[in-house]
This record gives sequence, C-alpha cells and structure tokens, in this order.
Amino acid sequence: MSSQNTAQTSMQAKKTLGESAENSLSPEQLLVSGYGEAAVLLNLDTSSWTSNRHAVRIEQLFEGDVNDELARLTQVAIDTGKVMTANLSLPTASGQVVYQVNLIPKVLGQQILFLFHDQTLDSNLRDALIESRQRFKDLVDISSDFSWEVGDDGRFVFVSRAGGLGYASDDIIGHKPEEFIVGADEYDPVPFLADERTEEVELWMHRADGGMACVVVSAIPFFENDGARIGVRGVCRDVTNERERATALAHAHQREQVLGYIVNTIRDEINPTDMLGAAAAATARAMGASGCRILRTGLAKDEGASLQFETAAEFGTGGPGQLGDDFLTFSAAEPWLREEEIEGWCVIAAPCLHAGDINGVICLWKRADWSNDDRLLVNDISNQLGIAIEQIENHESIVRLSRTDAMTGLLNRRAFYDEELPRHFQRLEHDGSSGALFYIDMDNFKLVNDVHGHQKGDEAIIALRDLLYDFVRPGDVIARLGGDEFALWLDGMDSDAAQKRSRQLLDMSHTLRDLSGQPDKPLGISIGIAVYKAGTGEGLESLLARADKAMYEVKQTSKGDFCLAPLPIGYNHLSQILPLCLFDCN
Ligand code: GH3
Ligand code: MG
Repeated sequence: MSSQNTAQTSMQAKKTLGESAENSLSPEQLLVSGYGEAAVLLNLDTSSWTSNRHAVRIEQLFEGDVNDELARLTQVAIDTGKVMTANLSLPTASGQVVYQVNLIPKVLGQQILFLFHDQTLDSNLRDALIESRQRFKDLVDISSDFSWEVGDDGRFVFVSRAGGLGYASDDIIGHKPEEFIVGADEYDPVPFLADERTEEVELWMHRADGGMACVVVSAIPFFENDGARIGVRGVCRDVTNERERATALAHAHQREQVLGYIVNTIRDEINPTDMLGAAAAATARAMGASGCRILRTGLAKDEGASLQFETAAEFGTGGPGQLGDDFLTFSAAEPWLREEEIEGWCVIAAPCLHAGDINGVICLWKRADWSNDDRLLVNDISNQLGIAIEQIENHESIVRLSRTDAMTGLLNRRAFYDEELPRHFQRLEHDGSSGALFYIDMDNFKLVNDVHGHQKGDEAIIALRDLLYDFVRPGDVIARLGGDEFALWLDGMDSDAAQKRSRQLLDMSHTLRDLSGQPDKPLGISIGIAVYKAGTGEGLESLLARADKAMYEVKQTSKGDFCLAPLPIGYNHLSQILPLCLFDCN
C-alpha cells in the first residue's frame, strides 16, 4: 500500500492554478488549459498540481477528499507507466458525477495528467433509453394486442413477442399481411401497407385455430430521407369479444322489443278467451312465421294424469297437416324447445310453463330455418304464454264457479236464466223448432229435513240430481234453481213428447220415496211444463211464468204429478197484456 500512499500524498499537495495570461503560461498550464473539460497535471516529485478552470468541480479530489478508486488507478498508472482509463462516479462540489477519467503518466517528466470527461449526460441518456425501451417492451408484451412492422418487401419483419391471432411471432414474420386478412381483395392497400397514417381500421383476420378475429388496425408508414417508404409499423387490437358482446346486446334488445310487442298484444286483449288468438297472430307476424298454433293442455280423462294437448288458437297459412303426437308432447321433466322438418316446413315448438307445470304449447312454422335469436324468442314467448294461459284458466274457473251450484255442481239459477235459456231460445228461433221447460219441485222435502236431519235432506237433493242426470239426453240442460227446486230444458220437445217424458221422470222419481220423512207424505216430485214454439213471438219471461204457474197448479191439486201449461192463444198479438192463458193439467 506504500504506492497508494504515495499517490494519495501527491494528490494532497498544494495546487497551482493556471489562470494567467496565455503568454506567461508554464508548459503545465499550457497543457491543461487546452483541454475542454476538467484537467489536472500532478507533479509526483513536488506533489503540486496544475489544473484548468473546468477543474474547479473536482479539485476537492486532489485536496484531501481522495477517492480510493482514483487513487488506485493513479498508482497503477505510476507503477505501469501506462495510460489508464476508467468510468468513475466521483463526488464533486455539485454532487455525484460520472466521469470517464484518463490517466496519462510520464507527462512533462514525472508528472501524471488526469483528463476528466463528464459522462453524466451520456449515462443518463443511455439509462433513459434502456428504461424507455424496457417500458415499451413491457407494455407491448403484456398487451393482448400485438405490434408489428412490415418491411419494404411487404412482409412482416417484426411482431411483438407474444405473437398475435394465436400465432407465435415467428409464424407471422416473413408472411404477407394479406395471407391473414379475410377478404383482403376489398382493401387497397391493406392497412398494413398504408401509405399514410391510418387509424382504427376494422377488419376480420384468420386466427391460428381456424376461427376469425375482428381486429382494429392502426398503422404508420416510415420513410427514407429521399421520401421512399421503407416500411409500415403499427398495432392490432383484437375486438372480437367486444363486437360479439355488442351484437349479442343488439339482438337481445331486438328480442326484448318483439317480446314487448307480443306481451302488449296479449294484455290489450280484454276478452281472455281471445287472448291466445291475438298471441298467435302477433307471434307469427313478429317472427316472420307462416303460421302459429297454440295448444292448451288438460288431463286426459282416460289415461290418468297424462297430458292432452288441444288446439286453442291458430293463425296463418300452411303448416304441417298433422303434427305428430310425439312432436307436441312435452313432459315437465324435459321441457325443451323442439325443432323438426315436417312436410317441408321448419317447425319449432316449445312448452308453456307456469309454476313448473306445462299448461300449453306454442308451435310455429316457416319454410326457412330458425335462428338462435328465434329460438330464444320462442322460449321467452312460451314463458309469457304460460302466464297468459294460467290467467285464462283462472278466469275460466271463476266463470265456472259463478255459473255453478256448489252442492250439486249443476248450473245455478243465474246461469240457467241469463245464459243458457237465452242461448237455447236463439237457436230455436233460428231452427224454427220447439223445446220444453220443466220446473221440478220436490214434494214433502221439508219433512226429510225435519225427520232425518239436514244432511239427509242434502242427500235427497243429490239423489234427485243423479236421477236427473240419468234422465236427460245430450243437449238437455239441468239446473238447480235453489232449495228443492230444479229446472230442465229439453231441446226439440213438442207438447206430446214433453208429457211422455214427464211421465217417465215421475216413474223414475219413485226411487226417492225411500228417503221420505213420513210414509204418508212420500218424497217425490211435481213438474210444471211450458213448451216453447219458435215463431210464436213469446218471450222468455212469459215462458218462465207459464212453467211456474203450471207448477203451482200441480202443487195445489195433486203432488207427484205434472201440469202442462197451454200454449198462449194468439200470443203474438196479446203477448204484452196476456202473459198466461188456460191450463190443461192432467
Ligand atoms: P212442498 O211439498 O209443498 O214442496 O213442500 P216441501 O216440504 O218440499 O218444502 P218447500 O219446497 O216449501 O221448501 C223447501 C225446503 O228446503 C225449505 C228449506 O228449509 C229446505 N232447503 C232449502 N235448501 C236446502 C238445502 O240445501 N239442504 C237442505 N237439506 N234443505 C234445504
Ligand atoms: Mg218442495
């Protein structure tokens, strides 16, 4: 370490600054003053040193603040007599500075010349460049996008490390961009060979997996000094997912609108029974179908709980003549959409569900294939129809209840008078035929209640109902008007037929005697009959009054019998003032 001490001692020697006029400069001063940056000439014999004006910043290194590395280099230069060069970060008056230090021994005798070259700027620039390159590389590498460069031969010369479109960068380099573009002929030039700055051009490219990717390309050409284009570089952004999402969103919006139209159409239909007709029409129109059929389900009477499908509404033309049972039979376990080609029609069908139960089927047909959007829409519509059908069923059940006598399940008074009789009347007028109204009242019924109790009375009422069921024929109507009063409407009856039928009913009613309260007051029935003849102009009120009057007559004379009200004579003219005429009671 003695040599290092020598160097350190020398560097701490008193300095001599060369700032005098040019003509009075010593050779040492002349030497250092010609250097553009800090220069120091150290005399090893005298330990004195000469520096130029740039050396102010580093003089402290020669005054006492000796830098070990500089001292070591100095010693090596002294020992070897060779020029030494090193980059050193040295403390200066204005902070740490990176210098390239050249040590030249044996200058002007035994002196050593230190030439300092400030490298801070260079090194900062280099560091900044390295960092900037690294930043650029990192950003490009982590991006799902890829950057590229096309050379003057129109082929990729660079693709960012991760590659693009599922290809490794090496699989793209050397190829022409056109090889990857779908329908490249449509572009002149393709954005990868653009003559000018090009931003956000959207195109479809082939992916490595055989699929297609929607890519947004931005490119910028670069030129030689003479203006010749030598290449193009740019970035590609894969927007396939975004585009697919946007398309799916647009389709969903469209479906929502169609569904809204159909739902509104159903809702706007005031009459529930017309709802399905409106739904079939709206659905067929909205979906461009040739026809639409909506079926409702009920439980098959003969097969226990198996579902039976019946057409409830149909719209449009064509369509398969007979949809196979299998095609339209859905089970709750597999309520999936079904598609089939039947007789040249593309038929699609979906079950309508409510609370997990199938209550209907919607079926549409057209000549062209159904799209995915159509399938989703049919599914949505079938769900809405499930709700609509449930509402219709509720409505029907309320109507049914309002028309029905709770104990017997027969039509009640209101339904019989206000709905059934007017309907039959209209038909008789139209057909010009006749019909008979039977009023039936049980004889001595109160005694059943009084003697056997109310429950036995109820059983007697049910027994009469069953008896009437056995008596009537298809097309006849039975109603319970209240208490022990019943009514029958028998289509196509004239007076003779009505009397004959009446006698049959009285015979059958003998079975009721078993339920009597007292043997001498047997349970039976009395019948008041009014026959209606089309064309007489008699009104419903009058017919009812005649039957009522006939019943009264029986009860007054002989219970367990019938009385036929005579047809009103000249009723056409006198109907307003003479509602009842002579009776012909048996
Ligand atoms: P008549 O021979 O003159 O017809 O007399 P009746 O004993 O049959 O008695 P009437 O027709 O005058 O009265 C019917 C009775 O039926 C009155 C009422 O207490 C009873 N009743 C009404 N509704 C019911 C019912 O739902 N169940 C039972 N058990 N009795 C009823
Ligand atoms: Mg009675």
